[in-house]
Amino acid sequence: MKNSSAAILKKYLAPNLTDYEILSGSFNWQDEQRLLNGLPEGKGLNIAYEAVERHAKGKSKDTIALRCIHKDRTTKDFTYYDLHKLSSRFANLLTTLGVKKGESVFALTGRIPELYIAALGTLKTTAVFCPLYAVFGPEPVFQRLSKGDAKVLITTTALFEKKVKPLLERLPSLQFILLTDKAAHINEKVLSLLRLMEEAHDEYIIPPTDPETPALLHFTSGTTGMPKGAMHVHGAVLTHYTTGKYVLDFHEGDIFWCTADPGWVTGTSYGIIAPLVNAVTNIVDEEEFDAARWYSILEEQKVNVWYTAPTAIRRLMRMDIQPKENYDLENLRLICSVGEPLHAEAVLWGEKTFGMPILDNWWQTETGGIMIANYRSMKVRPGSMGKPLPGVEAAIAEVTDSEIKIVTEPYKQGHLVLKKGWPSMFRAYLYEEERYKKCFRGDWYLTGDLAKKDEDGYYWFVGRADDIIKTSGHMVGPFEVESALMEHAAVAEAAVIGKPDPMIGELVKAFVVLKTGFIADEKLQLDIIGYARKKLGPAVAPKELAFVDGLPKTKSGKILRRLLKARELGLPEGDLSTLEKEN
Ligand code: AMP
Repeated sequence: MKNSSAAILKKYLAPNLTDYEILSGSFNWQDEQRLLNGLPEGKGLNIAYEAVERHAKGKSKDTIALRCIHKDRTTKDFTYYDLHKLSSRFANLLTTLGVKKGESVFALTGRIPELYIAALGTLKTTAVFCPLYAVFGPEPVFQRLSKGDAKVLITTTALFEKKVKPLLERLPSLQFILLTDKAAHINEKVLSLLRLMEEAHDEYIIPPTDPETPALLHFTSGTTGMPKGAMHVHGAVLTHYTTGKYVLDFHEGDIFWCTADPGWVTGTSYGIIAPLVNAVTNIVDEEEFDAARWYSILEEQKVNVWYTAPTAIRRLMRMDIQPKENYDLENLRLICSVGEPLHAEAVLWGEKTFGMPILDNWWQTETGGIMIANYRSMKVRPGSMGKPLPGVEAAIAEVTDSEIKIVTEPYKQGHLVLKKGWPSMFRAYLYEEERYKKCFRGDWYLTGDLAKKDEDGYYWFVGRADDIIKTSGHMVGPFEVESALMEHAAVAEAAVIGKPDPMIGELVKAFVVLKTGFIADEKLQLDIIGYARKKLGPAVAPKELAFVDGLPKTKSGKILRRLLKARELGLPEGDLSTLEKEN
């Protein structure tokens, strides 16, 4: 096993955040903002300027900004200067297509270089960028494109043919589809991105950008409706920069790998923006999870900081691979995790396997960036999410429809709430003002999570306060799945819950009431599951399905998913005062 002295030196670099209590006491966002450049001549704050332009003109010009690993393991590198030129080309081509400030540019591509170039180019123009997860089926893709008023979509020919073409008639505002892998334009609407890039000029001047200008749209699931579009602004870059520095502990020359797809907020905030704003090298792997591949990427790419998720960690834990014996992982300095509870066992496995605890952190689509974290310099309490980011005020609260009471006693379970005002707070749910307002009580944002705080200020996750399902780290809204199931000819009613699963956190389980005349047998069960997979994609569709005679409902007709779940798990059924007679 080789042990280069440079690797060892990097491993023992002092953390950027040396003392949590001291930094928390003195922190203010204005001081951090001074460390960003801002647009020349005081013309505002633009994410792409901070992520690319300022480095492309400075000492990081020739640093590798992005290393894309293709499925076949070949790689393609882009320096900060390359990204500057390519994103300028993309910005110019959008301008030629008539895309204006605030209009939406979507991507459905998988993790290929074009996605990253498109994101940065769109941000330059002050249009809004929305990446979609390529594993989504046509229905989730349609919901998002239509709700987000997509004007331009960047995609591959295969994804276009399979998922978008059948939707075109239902998407009147979608004006241009840019195919990443076609050399020539197909027609006036379906164009070759390669060709447009070739023709576009590679110099672009970013327009004045007020920090409140919308920049990124991320859809997240709700319990009662279709996905909500959380809108983020350019000023969010301050959170990305700060968390990159203090939580992911970026140092000059670092190589960073975030395994998340940009279709989920982690893959954008930390798979694109935070590493670039901090001028480190960002590794992107096009392939999905594969234990041996992942370990060899950590080794070959000499990854220093690795940001991944509990589902992947659990899968690695169950495998008979001894990474320390089989791979040279001497460069690894820090491993962080997000998305679901990281159990104490996994934190300790990190210690045993890599010689460092895995540091859990907590945040969500709406917060735009990491809010609660374990820090390199802070003692880890395995199983805890850690402490709020300096500059962020968190609390546990009792919440009613109109009021909020902050709880001060330690270990009391309540709603996890955050004081408004951190830079990356979402500014709207697109076209859903009421839903947005409902997330706030006075100055406090309600995260929808339940948690506890111990006597030393560490936060401990308890669960969701609603019916949203977390499966393989992804939020799935039961309503979205139920709606798709109801479209099957045999389904009269459907209800969906998250059933605890040791590997993927929760699996999506559906309960279905059949229309009269249909027989509840295995063939129909498979048929309905197959139908849902086709419509929703495997990441969202139910993995289990049971036929039932009726669904428990409240007197006002709402499905009592919580009761279905309690029954499924053999738990107490709780307060049944609102239960209507079943069937
Ligand atoms: P998303 O908006 O898809 O990123 O999902 C956010 C939700 O994931 C949070 O509201 C939590 O319910 C869950 N989550 C994220 N990070 C953690 C964590 N470290 N521990 C427990 N749950 C988490």
